[in-house]
Amino acid sequence: MKYSNRSKKSTYGQNFLFNKELLTALLDSCHLQPNDNVLEIGAGAGTLTEILAQRVGKLLALEIDDSLMPYLRALEQKLPNLRCLHCDFMTWDFEEYFRDTPSVKVIANIPYYITTPIYHRLIFSSLPIEELSCMVQLEVAKKIIATPEQKNEYGTLALICRHKYNAEIVRVVVKENFSPVPKVDSAFVRLTRKPEASPVDAADTAYYRLVKASFLHRRKTLLNSLKASGYEGGLVAEALRCLEIQENARPENLRYEDYVKLAESLG
Ligand code: SAH
Repeated sequence: MKYSNRSKKSTYGQNFLFNKELLTALLDSCHLQPNDNVLEIGAGAGTLTEILAQRVGKLLALEIDDSLMPYLRALEQKLPNLRCLHCDFMTWDFEEYFRDTPSVKVIANIPYYITTPIYHRLIFSSLPIEELSCMVQLEVAKKIIATPEQKNEYGTLALICRHKYNAEIVRVVVKENFSPVPKVDSAFVRLTRKPEASPVDAADTAYYRLVKASFLHRRKTLLNSLKASGYEGGLVAEALRCLEIQENARPENLRYEDYVKLAESLG
């Protein structure tokens, strides 16, 4: 293999899944409907894409690597409900693309080097994303479902996901299933939008901002962490007092409900 190809593979986080039985079992857990609108980020050579397209109404598959596009173009010829785009998900205007779509599901074996940016982009958006089921590194999966009891894993990712979604690990997928074999195991994580979740508004944005700021300086107290992130110390101290949270509490001591209330009182 030429050096340029090798470096591209590692740059794009390419770990392919060719095991169709495994992929079929994972999709069985997604409860897909024949009229679903689905987005796949990082379609690769299209193994998941093909199985997915056969189960849903419309599938839009994105891929950044031009050398993989011929495989995807061939699939497009076969599957009329499949559209493939050669683009970088991180700069592509997905909100514009899905502007008039009432509901979107994201199902993918995503590139791991941008796992958190992908989750943030999707979750902070105003799009009605009903389900977000992705393959991620096992350690990231544990962070997504963590509660304050899992002190080391609990943090921004769990609190951001939990705000609008219920999260579960569907299945742990050992690294030998991937090609090339990565260093760590993975897990398929399913986020389903809470029935009562409203579209993202200014109050949600304030919550997301608070959570990110709280864990930015993990070893500081929550109060100092927020002060360091530009929150007014007096206001934070007052809000903590009203919520009966100790002034020396650390970010990982607060539950999801505490962050919601704190975000509300800080405005
Ligand atoms: N879904 C495929 C490939 C998974 S590997 C499978 O399961 O086999 C992740 C894929 O994401 C790679 O094909 C990689 O080229 C692609 N990718 C990496 N960064 C991307 C980005 N920013 N936007 C879109 N695709 C990307």
